[in-house]
Amino acid sequence: MELVHEIVEMEAELSVWRRNIHAHPELGFAENRTSDFVAEKLTEFGIQVHRGIGKTGLVGVLREGNETNSIGLRADMDALPIHEKNQFDHCSKSEGTMHACGHDGHTVMLLAAAKYLAETRNFQGQVNFIFQPAEEGLGGARAMIKDGLFEKFPCDRIYAMHNGPGLPVGKFSAVPGVRTAAGAFFDIDIKGKGGHGAFPHLAIDPIPIAAEVVSALQTLISRSTAPNESVVLSVTKIHAGDAYNVIPDSARLSGTIRTFSMEKMKELESHLNALSQGIASAHGASANLIFEVPFHPVVNDEPATNFAAGICNDLVGENNVYRTGDPGTGSEDFSFMTEQVPGCYLVIGNGEQSNALHNPNYDFNDEALVFGGSFFARVTESELAVDRVR
Ligand SMILES: [Zn+2]
Ligand SMILES: [Zn+2]
Repeated sequence: MELVHEIVEMEAELSVWRRNIHAHPELGFAENRTSDFVAEKLTEFGIQVHRGIGKTGLVGVLREGNETNSIGLRADMDALPIHEKNQFDHCSKSEGTMHACGHDGHTVMLLAAAKYLAETRNFQGQVNFIFQPAEEGLGGARAMIKDGLFEKFPCDRIYAMHNGPGLPVGKFSAVPGVRTAAGAFFDIDIKGKGGHGAFPHLAIDPIPIAAEVVSALQTLISRSTAPNESVVLSVTKIHAGDAYNVIPDSARLSGTIRTFSMEKMKELESHLNALSQGIASAHGASANLIFEVPFHPVVNDEPATNFAAGICNDLVGENNVYRTGDPGTGSEDFSFMTEQVPGCYLVIGNGEQSNALHNPNYDFNDEALVFGGSFFARVTESELAVDRVR
């Protein structure tokens, strides 16, 4: 039960890297400086670098021996459009952009393992270090997959971690099954017929129709979803009209849906369509639904998750590893990778005092770096051990 001592010895250097990235946050698909930083480090470690996989994404490849075994280790690199309120020296130098989700820390934990594995090479097979852009809703994982991520860099299994505020540093959670929610964004355009506010009988007013649709959508949760199934549906925007005396031509409703399965998401999409079209047509109007699902649920593969939990046990002891727990309604696009390759998405403690993710006072906890780095290092050495029998 111990961390990788070579990585523990790097702790001060890792913190410098992490703070450097934190001070220079970049939004999704604009991670140019970050991507350069990562590429430079990987090259310095003697790792082959492949850039432009998903625009600003990159993959480092480290191979040892002729075995065909392979592993993927993934970190995300993007920041958020948040104005940082922290006052420390390494706070954001880029006004209005902030590493408020700890992707600076995720990137450095993977760099730590890359440096260690390139120096020690105590494995047989291929390690793919996947540095993903644009996790925060812009589709970075899908962009990498579209650019042939898993064809060019085949992975038998894939692992990723997210820091967890509230979970003490030195604790991990590795739980099989569904871990994060599927997230959809929708727009419903209701087309009526504009007219004079004083002559409503000559128009088809889209505003009361939109109001009726909003009310009806609530029944999708209260009447069409099993009481023990968790679903969220929120209408978050309504836009129509510009003047006191004009009945607008159209109205637009927008919102988000979260579910824990894609089956339920598809069912809700078709209900949403039927309800809005039915209500609109009953009033002589029409409705058009635009429905996008940028996040699927992350589903942890059971054998990969048990394997990951075993590695965590060796690092921090089994009392510090959670193997059960409810999934959260947050979303994560690592889901698109675990749909293609069996894998595990772990949570690593960011400390009980940590501010929440996406909070303007959040900061990644540097003490967690050696834990995450050690996990990536050991899971690789165990997955790619020469004598390993699957
Ligand atoms: Zn986030
Ligand atoms: Zn995140």
